[in-house]
Amino acid sequence: MTRKEKINKLRKQGKTLSVIAKEFHISGERVRQILNSEYCSIHAISYVESCQYCEEEEKYGLFLKSANKEILEKEMVKLSKKDRTAIPSLHRKLLVKKIKKEWNISFSDLARKLHRDRTTISSYFYQ
Ligand SMILES: [Zn+2]
Repeated sequence: MTRKEKINKLRKQGKTLSVIAKEFHISGERVRQILNSEYCSIHAISYVESCQYCEEEEKYGLFLKSANKEILEKEMVKLSKKDRTAIPSLHRKLLVKKIKKEWNISFSDLARKLHRDRTTISSYFYQ
């Protein structure tokens, strides 16, 4: 049973948020968040209102759809930096997929432009 399922069960047994909170050594507010949370199996995270990565994927996807070659070149420079945090990494994947499909460019050339190795870039594409 996951923590969420355990908490759900206790809640159904009529236990209050603060009683549950004490049992799990978390705050009552956290218990409430867990009860209201859902799970994104794509990004393997729990979320309350919407998965921020799914949302970002949609937003950036729309941006890329309308972007011209000049804008895409600028994005490529921006995303060639060392930043490995989640959002730039997500953008990098989406950008690679788009450019590889639309431009006649090899994985090696794309890798060079993005300062990554070829294996990383091709794994973005096939993910
Ligand atoms: Zn997601």
